[in-house]
Amino acid sequence: MDLLTPTSIRALLDRHGIAPKKSLGQNFLADPNTARRIATLAALSPGDAVLEIGPGLGSLTLALLERGAEVRAVELDQRLALALADVLGPDTEVDVRVADALHAPLDQLLARDDGRGWTCVSNLPYNVAVPVVIRLLEEAPDVERVVVLVQREVGERLAAGPGDAQYGAVSVKVAYYSEASLLGVVPPTVFMPRPKVDSVLVGLVRRAAPPVDVPEVAALFGLVRSGFGQRRKMLRRSLQPVLGARTEAVLDAAGIAPTARAETLGLEQWAAVARSAAVAA
Ligand code: SAM
Repeated sequence: MDLLTPTSIRALLDRHGIAPKKSLGQNFLADPNTARRIATLAALSPGDAVLEIGPGLGSLTLALLERGAEVRAVELDQRLALALADVLGPDTEVDVRVADALHAPLDQLLARDDGRGWTCVSNLPYNVAVPVVIRLLEEAPDVERVVVLVQREVGERLAAGPGDAQYGAVSVKVAYYSEASLLGVVPPTVFMPRPKVDSVLVGLVRRAAPPVDVPEVAALFGLVRSGFGQRRKMLRRSLQPVLGARTEAVLDAAGIAPTARAETLGLEQWAAVARSAAVAA
């Protein structure tokens, strides 16, 4: 199968009169080796159901088809959906939906007769990468694995743990739902147009069950958000908006020093704070 190169991408953009939109993160993958590398890292078997968010001109879609995947693709830009139809040809089995991955009803998008799980494999638009990943983790339990290409800083945030520079509220949420790992670095040179920064490949494998026990997940994430909202402050200050006068007592009961900062707590410790807050409520 011929995958897309800088020459074919330029020709497609010209033929369809498309100028890439920065606001939609339209940096197209223009390197067959990288497209194949992503499809290989996704460890797909023929017939696997793959959700691709933002197929663009089909750089990655073609590599997924090469692996025998059954692809459902969600593209926001109607112009690209038309160009993609051109790339895929009339006999394609790729199911292309024109929709916004941030708002499209996921139950409809992921509905299928055989009840099998999904793998999401995507080169995500940089401006919505985090909310898209979090939406899949929170709202689409049928998405069992995620392999995505994102800006380096975003990928490091998704996979970070306590002590890592990019560790934040998003990292804790990702760790609650999945096991995340960085799978490799991709340089700006393989994209058209070229972004300014490196990208990384991130793999997420959904956990069969949450690794911690908390009375209410929303309350756990409320605490985490509050803690990282003022990440340089000690928890006795940064958790006040949620816990008020109880803050120090809740932290003491959880065995966490009130002088600790959010960035030093792992998921298990956040869960201990959430349990202690629920008991003291
Ligand atoms: N997969 C293609 C590739 O690798 O060359 C294109 C990747 S490009 C980084 C991101 C794609 O996501 C673009 O095609 C863009 O139009 C699309 N996109 C941007 N925002 C979107 C959204 N909210 N929902 C669905 N697609 C979106």
